[in-house]
Amino acid sequence: MRIFEQLESQVRSYVRSFPAIFDTAEGSFLFDEQGNRYIDFFAGAGTLNYGHNNPRINSALIEYLQRNGIVHGLDKATVAKKNFLQKFYDTVLAPRHLEYKVQFTGPTGTNAVETALKLARMVKGRSNVIAFTNGFHGLTLGSLAVTGNNFYRDEFFGMRANVDHMPYDGYFEGLDSIAYLRRMLEDNSSGIDLPAAIITETVQAEGGINVASVEWLKQLEQLCREFDILLIVDDIQVGNGRTGTFFSFERAGIYPDMVTLSKSIGGGLPLALSLIRPDLDQWKPGEHTGTFRGNNLAFIAATEALAYWDGEDMPEAVSYKADILDTELRRIADKYPDLGATVRGIGLIQGLHIPRAGFCSQISEEAFNKGVVIELSGADDDVVKFLPSLLIEEDILREGLQVIDQAIGDLLARKDELRGGAVL
Ligand code: PLP
Repeated sequence: MRIFEQLESQVRSYVRSFPAIFDTAEGSFLFDEQGNRYIDFFAGAGTLNYGHNNPRINSALIEYLQRNGIVHGLDKATVAKKNFLQKFYDTVLAPRHLEYKVQFTGPTGTNAVETALKLARMVKGRSNVIAFTNGFHGLTLGSLAVTGNNFYRDEFFGMRANVDHMPYDGYFEGLDSIAYLRRMLEDNSSGIDLPAAIITETVQAEGGINVASVEWLKQLEQLCREFDILLIVDDIQVGNGRTGTFFSFERAGIYPDMVTLSKSIGGGLPLALSLIRPDLDQWKPGEHTGTFRGNNLAFIAATEALAYWDGEDMPEAVSYKADILDTELRRIADKYPDLGATVRGIGLIQGLHIPRAGFCSQISEEAFNKGVVIELSGADDDVVKFLPSLLIEEDILREGLQVIDQAIGDLLARKDELRGGAVL
């Protein structure tokens, strides 16, 4: 680890939570340089929905490289891009009767968010945007301004202007947050300027696995239509099948004006895109660019990954494993009633919320020592976040859950011992 401490910036993060030097990976397993095996319940924060080194994706990449396929092409036309666009249209857009233009942005999620915000402001000729409490949209300045968490939003970073944060679904118990938002928009003395766009996740992944209800999402769409506001759904983490359907908003039957996609759209390689309702595609040629927009290797991986969405096998598989995850998390929550844990989430993004400061970090650490990589979520790191590959085998999912159960049991037993057997 010495070279990392010596040379890598203080900003490094996961190397601290998971202090091993990883070397190889396959499916839902990571292996460190000593050959120790870890079950991956983190999946690259939602980038590895199809697992590590997916053999279908790897074969396509190797074949493409061996035939000297174009790797970097700016936004020139390439066979790899043509095939990706066709596959995306045939497999994702057409069956859902969705009409979007595809804009390839710089390769990471925040680039797609910046693009959507910029276009929305340009098209509507308004600078304000509404975002929600606990939302997370990336860490470049425009995306940072619509992100909620204070840890990232230091005022020295500058420019957090032109954004208002409103309460997300369920933020205040008993508050109708759509009615609240409507009132703020109707009242021309509320201090809230009519926004160009409202940006939301349908499930706040980093913000604590907060699932917006179908009703709330429908009402939000309705409100956007009434007030001539564009609706941007940030599907970077919970799109790509994470909730069981390709897009996370399908369960609500809404039609966002723009959608941001990244993470698993690239089948594990860096790729980000914004989907834009065709009439909003008002860019002048070359007006918004990026050297690494539309990486061709990522197109090869992405096209191969989309083959998993032919037919109904993928949604069925996610639903089957989501039921196992839900049942097991409830069993664990019931087994340790003193923890006050509750289960939240949908599809293969679920979490154990534990209202006990610091305990989730201890679970993650203990789980890591026992061979499971799992991350936290929520402003106070109070949710243990289960984010396995969508292709995880049932026995590995169950084995990983057993490890978490064991980790919690051992932690509680140790605390109990320290307190001389007294109840926690
Ligand atoms: N939007 C959402 C919903 C995310 O979860 C993330 C990253 O976790 C981002 C945007 C930013 O993506 P990136 O870190 O690739 O810039």
